[in-house]
Amino acid sequence: MKISELPRESILLPGNPSCQGCPHGLGLRALGMALENIVLVIPAGCTTIISGIHPKASFNVPVLHVPFASAAAVASGLAAAYRQEGIDANVVVWMGDGGADIGFATLSGAAVRNEDIIVVVSDNEAYMNTGIQSSGTTFWKAKTTTSPGGKSEEKKDLATIMLMHRVPYVATASVGYLPDFIEKLRRASEIKGFRFIHLHSPCPPGWRFDSSRTVEIARLAVKSGAWVLWEYDGRFSISTPSKPYKNEERGAPLEEYIKAQGRFKGIKPEDIEEIRRKIEKQWRLLLSFEETFR
Ligand code: SF4
Repeated sequence: MKISELPRESILLPGNPSCQGCPHGLGLRALGMALENIVLVIPAGCTTIISGIHPKASFNVPVLHVPFASAAAVASGLAAAYRQEGIDANVVVWMGDGGADIGFATLSGAAVRNEDIIVVVSDNEAYMNTGIQSSGTTFWKAKTTTSPGGKSEEKKDLATIMLMHRVPYVATASVGYLPDFIEKLRRASEIKGFRFIHLHSPCPPGWRFDSSRTVEIARLAVKSGAWVLWEYDGRFSISTPSKPYKNEERGAPLEEYIKAQGRFKGIKPEDIEEIRRKIEKQWRLLLSFEETFR
């Protein structure tokens, strides 16, 4: 796939009110390049703000704003209604990690029913929109306004939880590797049923790094093995950008990724070692999935 051959018109219009270097902006542009006939369902979050206020909306596709907990349920009904009317639409739930925490019941329910929708969780690892509170997917030891000494709870592995719903398609992606994300969206769009993509989205103000470095930080996460790109479509595979880092000696040092972010300021060396152990454990789990889901 060549980026130059993809549609140039973005579903997200210029002049929108996202912060500089916002990862959602990157992801949403890629979404528009990957799919046609998109209908967005958005629970509360940064993307609600990004989409703007009527009549000066930032999207040029239909958008339904819904309460947190209802997003996957509303999308399920919408997809059924379009099907009934014979309308070809890609119903996409675009939510943050807050939406996935607070809306988990309907997310899980839609997965269990194998609803014909695509869900993208653009995960910036905290509730940025309401003041950087810790979420289920906030990294262990990351400082947020509700974890000023560093988060003490374990990070929730959302994509693996969705995989265990036995749905037809689950993948992880990163705003640092948009061609990989676009290819995954395209493959997902060729499959019927519930499709889930967990998009890693480093947030400059929330993670405290300069807004020019979003893509660099996202790539460091993958290169240090802290975020692993994988795909399940009946078979489980580690995706091409992550493949070199199966062998940790070829990756970027974990310290480089951790120390680039103000949210880990003052982290102790032994905590970095503990993060390294957690990452190794995660890799062992994912490599065992490659064996299991062949
Ligand atoms: S807080 Fe982060 S995710 Fe939210 S709009 Fe700003 S850069 Fe984007």
